[in-house]
Amino acid sequence: MKTHARVVVIGGGVVGVSTLYHLALKGWSDAVLLERAELTAGSTWHAAGLLPLFNMSYTVGQLHKYSVDLYKRLPAETGQDVSFHVTGNLRLATCRDRMDEYQKYCGTANTIGVPFQVIGPEQVRDLWPLVELGDGAGTPKIVGALYHPDDGHIAPADLTMALRKGARSRGAEIQEQCEVTAVKHTPSGEWHLTTNKGDIVAEHVVCATGNYARQTGRMFGLNVPSIPVEHQYIVYDESPELKAYRQGGGRELAVLRESDQSYYLREERMGWILGPYEAGAPARFADGVPAWFGKSLFEGDLERLLPHVEAAQRRVPSLAACGIKDIVNGPIAYTPDGSPLIGPAWGGRNLWLNEGHSFGITAAGGAGWQLAEWMVEGEPGIDMMAVDPRRYGPYTSKRYVVQKNEETYRNVFVIHFPDEERPDARPAKTSPVYDKLSRMGAVFGQRYGWERANWFAPPGVPAKDHWSFRRSNYFEHVGNEALRLRKHVGIIDLTPFTKHEVTGPGAESWLDGLVANKVPTKIGRIALCHALTRRGGIRSEFTITKIADQHFYVVSAGAAERYDNDYLQQQLPRDGSVTLRNITMSRGCFVVAGPRSRDVLAKLVDAPLDNAAFPWLTGQVTEVGLATDVYLLRVNFVGALGWELHFPIEYAHHLFDSLLAAGAEFNLGLAGMRAMESLRLEKSYRMWGSDLTPDYSPYEAGLDRFVRLNKGPFIGKEALEKQLEAGVPHRFITFEVHGVTDADPLGNEPLFDAKGNIIGRATAGYYGHALRRSLGLGYVKPEFAALGGDIEIEILGERKRATVLVDSPYDPENQDLRA
Ligand SMILES: Cc1cc2nc3c(=O)[nH]c(=O)nc-3n(C[C@H](O)[C@H](O)[C@H](O)COP(=O)(O)OP(=O)(O)OC[C@H]3O[C@@H](n4cnc5c(N)ncnc54)[C@H](O)[C@@H]3O)c2cc1C
Repeated sequence: MKTHARVVVIGGGVVGVSTLYHLALKGWSDAVLLERAELTAGSTWHAAGLLPLFNMSYTVGQLHKYSVDLYKRLPAETGQDVSFHVTGNLRLATCRDRMDEYQKYCGTANTIGVPFQVIGPEQVRDLWPLVELGDGAGTPKIVGALYHPDDGHIAPADLTMALRKGARSRGAEIQEQCEVTAVKHTPSGEWHLTTNKGDIVAEHVVCATGNYARQTGRMFGLNVPSIPVEHQYIVYDESPELKAYRQGGGRELAVLRESDQSYYLREERMGWILGPYEAGAPARFADGVPAWFGKSLFEGDLERLLPHVEAAQRRVPSLAACGIKDIVNGPIAYTPDGSPLIGPAWGGRNLWLNEGHSFGITAAGGAGWQLAEWMVEGEPGIDMMAVDPRRYGPYTSKRYVVQKNEETYRNVFVIHFPDEERPDARPAKTSPVYDKLSRMGAVFGQRYGWERANWFAPPGVPAKDHWSFRRSNYFEHVGNEALRLRKHVGIIDLTPFTKHEVTGPGAESWLDGLVANKVPTKIGRIALCHALTRRGGIRSEFTITKIADQHFYVVSAGAAERYDNDYLQQQLPRDGSVTLRNITMSRGCFVVAGPRSRDVLAKLVDAPLDNAAFPWLTGQVTEVGLATDVYLLRVNFVGALGWELHFPIEYAHHLFDSLLAAGAEFNLGLAGMRAMESLRLEKSYRMWGSDLTPDYSPYEAGLDRFVRLNKGPFIGKEALEKQLEAGVPHRFITFEVHGVTDADPLGNEPLFDAKGNIIGRATAGYYGHALRRSLGLGYVKPEFAALGGDIEIEILGERKRATVLVDSPYDPENQDLRA
């Protein structure tokens, strides 16, 4: 075995081998893969081999699409057959919500170019003659289905071998029976790995260890939020009906998914494989995989599977006559949101994760492709935030991960409503005033472990969501909250914001080199600044306030805490001239916004709040009520006269109570995240993570005024200059959708020209309650961005006319903000 390599991949499942293959493909052939047993010995050998293209995530959808395309080419490239049966994949729907879900998915599929068809019950029968269409009694009636003609199933071990061949033929090395047992970071910044076959030093390490992710992480000092869950499928004997159908010339049946009964069914040697996602499947190995487990399986638990078996027998009656040959019950890696962890680990350099794969056979190709791109080019080629390991933070305790993973597993087939908020492992992280908000009717959601009020149920209204793809029970109440902020004054608790303090003699120039805008130079000034990727895409959005000489307060999205902190840490100069402190947990934040916000604050603040003394986009460190050291910033994300109060956390109750008391005479009320969404859309405020991503530059996002090309070097500047020369490929638009009755855009819908050609995609959408318009934000080709231009959008399968509006259709002159 080599003693030195540019990169070591730990783990020889399909994901590790795909990573090795793609690294070698990109020219990093000085790469060694270490596998403790033999290739595929983890979960890969017993996977059912399904390759579903269906995925609600824009990112994961792209990874799956790449995989399916790659697996079709691999045999020709490597000479290794992979048994890819392109059977197609049929997902049944037995209710309108399910059809809505499929239609919502179709928007995403359209924007990433995945072929699909939405079909009716008769076509279901044509494609799948052995199916019962249902009569509503024991077997719900099929109302339609989503059909992917291009996917199917594959032999996972053969696929791994093909990838192995491809990697080896390009010079990469694979060592089996070679377990990594210890890790050290060398003074030169490399990784020193100890194995039973000797030591090896590597510049980069990729962990692709499947069910072992947590214990591998521990070797590197990481708490990796991946714990496996039991997953089973049943292998059936031959089915006489299936055999007769196939011998009569019938083609292999598409993989069938009855989502509403949470199972899949596919052919296997004239019999069937039935795989349910059942309730009660336990998480396993939370403290690590025991040495004895090796290539074993768990005992099958038929009891747990029975409800799904019975449902499948009602849908495919011939199944009842088939004997059960085997039950395969193996560990399947999960993460709390069900998406894998692909990208850099936090807190160190050149350590990469490709872990937490629950659809790893499907995702392996795409996961290897983008991780190799990231490692070799320094950045991935697509927006990877949805799978970035740093989307999780230190809150992922063992119990949190266990509870969330079990919940995610049993919810694989539930309808993925856009407003869904799952209940397990909650509440975990709460703002100090959580109980008060709760008593005032808050209906909470969870983001990055934090409880956030989505809306407030007025007295007498049940504090509960009815999740839907359409306007739902909270629509009116969200509207009232939004209107209160437009007409009176409201409070939003934004304590989860990520907050950093940057101090030291080098602070200003360091920050300036990280972002495209000019960092404020005058004490009390605030600037909206974007950190870019080297390709010029938007990595992060920071609101930077100069608090004092050599002292900056940097605020970013709550969900970006680890992502931003890790990035800032990595970029710090090594000369000690800058100190970075993550102060997220020591400061809370309330937004007080609306035309009467000045009147409310004036009762608690001695300093004058008028425009001359306290202009828009400035901040002051002041006392508010009894609270000291409050950063009072005249900015907000709702586009109203207002202030954000960033206060030492111990004053949360005092400030909350004082603001409510001071605001009583001005009709002050509370508002939640959904009202904020409505308000920010009316102002065309771009949201980091959905509207602002590495896929788009600030020019594409229409943020030209926050880019200072003449200020000196900053990361991404060259890419922006090139883009200006070559032409900006997309333009950000705000649009109104006409003829909406109950389904507003929500993001990820395709946008079309009048001839039906796709011209872009929506990144967000909601109802603007003050404007009384259904609004969307998105990117289109520049020729379609003109004000007043007519475009079309597809919402839940219906084509709607839309008109491009002025940026910030509510108060375009910002008069409210400057009032
Ligand atoms: C019953 C079942 C059915 C499934 N069906 C499907 C399906 O139809 N479609 C689909 O897409 N997915 C399916 N999956 C999921 C799929 O099996 C996994 O997502 C995939 O195999 C994960 O691959 P991996 O390479 O990440 O992990 P693994 O295959 O588990 O590989 C990890 C490897 O790392 C090695 N390793 C660990 N620690 C070390 C160390 N310290 N040193 C060296 N080596 C180490 C292990 O020995 C192991 O070989 C199924 C899973 C189960 C349980």
